[in-house]
Amino acid sequence: MTVTIPYGRQDISDADIQAVVDVLKSDYLTQGPVVPAFEKSIADYCGAQYSIAVNSATSALHIACLALDVGPNDIVWTTPITFVASSNCALYCGARIDFVDIDSRTYNMSVQCLEEKLVRAERTGNLPKVVIPVHLCGQPCDMAGIHALGQKYGFKIIEDASHAIGGKYRGEPIGNCRYSDITILSFHPVKIITAGEGGMALTNDVKVAKRMNLLRSHGITSDAEDMTPQAPEEIWNYQQIGLGFNYRMTDIHAALGLSQMQRLDKFVNKRHIIAKRYEEQLSGLPVITPWQHMDSYSGFHLYVVRLKLEEIDKSQKEIFNVLRAAGILVNLHYIPVYRQPYYANFGFKAGLCPEAEQYYLEAISLPMYPALTEGQQDQVVAVLREAIVA
Ligand SMILES: *Cc1c(COP(=O)(O)O)cnc(C)c1O
Repeated sequence: MTVTIPYGRQDISDADIQAVVDVLKSDYLTQGPVVPAFEKSIADYCGAQYSIAVNSATSALHIACLALDVGPNDIVWTTPITFVASSNCALYCGARIDFVDIDSRTYNMSVQCLEEKLVRAERTGNLPKVVIPVHLCGQPCDMAGIHALGQKYGFKIIEDASHAIGGKYRGEPIGNCRYSDITILSFHPVKIITAGEGGMALTNDVKVAKRMNLLRSHGITSDAEDMTPQAPEEIWNYQQIGLGFNYRMTDIHAALGLSQMQRLDKFVNKRHIIAKRYEEQLSGLPVITPWQHMDSYSGFHLYVVRLKLEEIDKSQKEIFNVLRAAGILVNLHYIPVYRQPYYANFGFKAGLCPEAEQYYLEAISLPMYPALTEGQQDQVVAVLREAIVA
């Protein structure tokens, strides 16, 4: 049996396990003290005022859109090079979705393409209500540029930072919402820290925070000042004042996330060490390694290389298959969302975002996670070299 090397993997310590066991032995498995402690830990780390923990980043994106009033007559824009959840959240709200092409160096939403699309949309009366930039691989988008366009064209911003906790933009932590209304984080096992499953929405706007808080738990409040007046003999200590969901995180999950927070900086530092080593080892091969903007300190959730196919005799698929056959479980992040079969229902056609499509033909995500050993990394590079030159 060959031992496989995945593209991403969680790192679980004895302390993480103990933290979960402690919750299992406590009075509350959910809605206890650990979720608020995890929320505070993330808000403090990221420098945001409010943090709402939920059961996934997908749920966080949904309630973020709702909290910004996205509805059936609205349009949301995101990048095509992302996980489908960044786009599906608009569809959950009945809104229309559209895509802004990527920057050729960072693979993040291109501010130039965004501006050109806004100019056209203004003429036709199709301006977006919300734009969702995604910090692909953990590298922050040009948030100052996107924010300035938001001011000019009147859209709100949700940062999908599912790849990016622990990273920095212009020296400040990603998640502080300086250039956005809401930032979303994911704690899926392949992400930078994990809670098993889980997500978080960060904001500095108290009204938005309150709305997301209600939406996460059925639209129910137990805050007396939010309730409508009741007969004094009624003893209900909660009221449903809106329509929400059960998107709550459990204390079991929060305990794992909170424990992982202690190693967040270590994880990201290790990812940078691995990236630097790849950079050195891959020099000389016909691949483009991840370019880093000087404003950015990436979380390095993913390590994507682009094949210089004009210098290679094989196709992306062939190289992929050689790596996979050798037990190196490379991946492709991502197929442009609008190329997914479901999105054909909305009339999207291949070719919509040329830069994204070119990227899609060349990208491969190499293994990148804190526990990746130097020996494993050497093996990845050796097999890739073999696949390219043999
Ligand atoms: C993983 C991911 C999500 C969804 O995260 P879940 O916590 O699994 O719901 C959303 N957006 C991006 C960019 C992601 O990578």
